[in-house]
Amino acid sequence: MPKATIRDLGDVRGARVFVRVDYNVPLEGGAISDDTRIRASLPTLEHLRQAGARLVLTSHLGRPKKGPDPQFSLKPAAARLGELLGRPVTMAPDCVGQAVSDLAGALGDGDVLLLENVRFHAEEEKNDPAFAKRMIADSGASIFVNDAFGSAHRAHASTEGVAHHVARSVAGLLMEKELRYLGMALEAPERPFVTVLGGAKVSDKIEVIESLLPRVDALLVGGGMAYTFLRARGIATGKSLVEEDKIPLAKDLMQKAGGKLRLPVDHVVAAAFKEDAEHRTLPVEEVPDGWMGLDIGARTAKAYAEEAGRAKLVLWNGPMGVFEMAPFAQGTLAMAKALADSPGVSIVGGGDSVAAVTQMGLADRIDHVSTGGGASLEFLSGEPLPGVACLEDAK
Ligand code: ADP
Ligand code: MG
Repeated sequence: MPKATIRDLGDVRGARVFVRVDYNVPLEGGAISDDTRIRASLPTLEHLRQAGARLVLTSHLGRPKKGPDPQFSLKPAAARLGELLGRPVTMAPDCVGQAVSDLAGALGDGDVLLLENVRFHAEEEKNDPAFAKRMIADSGASIFVNDAFGSAHRAHASTEGVAHHVARSVAGLLMEKELRYLGMALEAPERPFVTVLGGAKVSDKIEVIESLLPRVDALLVGGGMAYTFLRARGIATGKSLVEEDKIPLAKDLMQKAGGKLRLPVDHVVAAAFKEDAEHRTLPVEEVPDGWMGLDIGARTAKAYAEEAGRAKLVLWNGPMGVFEMAPFAQGTLAMAKALADSPGVSIVGGGDSVAAVTQMGLADRIDHVSTGGGASLEFLSGEPLPGVACLEDAK
C-alpha cells in the first residue's frame, strides 16, 4: 500500500512539522566528510519551506552510549544544511526541554530548527512513549514527516513513536523515492528482473535471497558470499571467506533456485588479504594452497555484466570483491559500469556497494542509489518497516 506523502498534506502554512531526517553523516576530525545524506533531505525540506511550514528536524548521529557527547553533536550538520539551504539553520542544545519549546516557538514560516542528537537520550532506542510524546509537545508539531528511510527499520521514538502523538504522519520525498524504487523489486517487477548479490557474508543476506528468489529471473552471486555456495557445490575454496555453518543452507537455496542462481566461473585469488599480495586469475575450481579468492574474474564479470545489461530491472547489493584494494576492484567496477549503462531501471543498495559506485563516479548514472543500508535489506526481505508502517496510507 503506497503511503501518503508531504504532497498530500494540504495547507501547512504556519504549521510546525516534525521531520525525521537521516543526518548520520561520516565525520572526520569534526568535519563532515560526505554530505550526501544532508543533500538527500533537501527536496523534502524545500517543499515544506516553500509551503510555509515551520520545520523542526531530528536525527541521530553515531552511537553515543552515555548521554550527551560533543563528539556526536549534530552541530556540523546544522552548519552544512544552512549552507545548502542558503539560510541559517538554528541548532537546539537538546531534542526536548524548555530551550526546544522556546526555539520552536520562535520559528517563522519557512524557518528550520535542528534538534540535537536524539540518541543522547536512552529513551530514543527504547521507543519510550513518554519521551516521544514530550518531543512532540516541546516542538509544538502537529505533523510528523518521516524522511529517514535509513532508520525506518528501527522502531525508535523519533522514527515510530512520535507518529502516535500527532494529527498526521506522512512520508517525505526521499522516503517516497526509496519505497517506489525498492518496491519495484517486490511488486510485480518488470522482466527480466536480475539481482546481483555480493559482499562479505551469506548470513547477512539470507532473508533477502529467500524473498527475492521466487521473483527474479536470475540471481548473480559474487563477493565473499560466493564461496559458501561454491563449497556447497563441493569445490575447494582454500582460505576464501566461507561460513561453514551456512553450507547446508546454501545447498538448500541452490536447490530451490534451480538454474537461477549463478556462481562465478573464475576469480582473482591472492596469497594474502593484502593490497600488494601476489595474485592471479584462475577458474573457480583452482585455489593454490593457502590462497584466497578476493574478486570475481574477468570472464564472470563479463557474463554478469551482459546478463544485468539485458534486464528491465536490475538490483545490486554487495560488492563483487574486496574493492577497497585496487587489484581486487575490477569485478565491482565492471558491475557498476554495467548498471550505469543499463537501459533498464538500475538500483543499488547497501552501504559498501553505494560507497563503491560513488567512489567510481558512476552513482549519477544509476536510477536509484539507496541511502538505507540495513533498511533496504530488511525492506527487500519483505519485512514491514516500523518507520513506514506508522505512516498514513495514500488515499
Ligand atoms: P553492502 O554494505 O553493500 O551491503 P557488505 O557489507 O555485505 O556490502 O560487504 C562489503 C564487504 O565485502 C566489503 O568490505 C568487501 O571488501 C567485502 N568482500 C567482497 N568480496 C569479498 C571476498 N571475496 N572476500 C572477503 N571480503 C569480500
Ligand atoms: Mg556493509
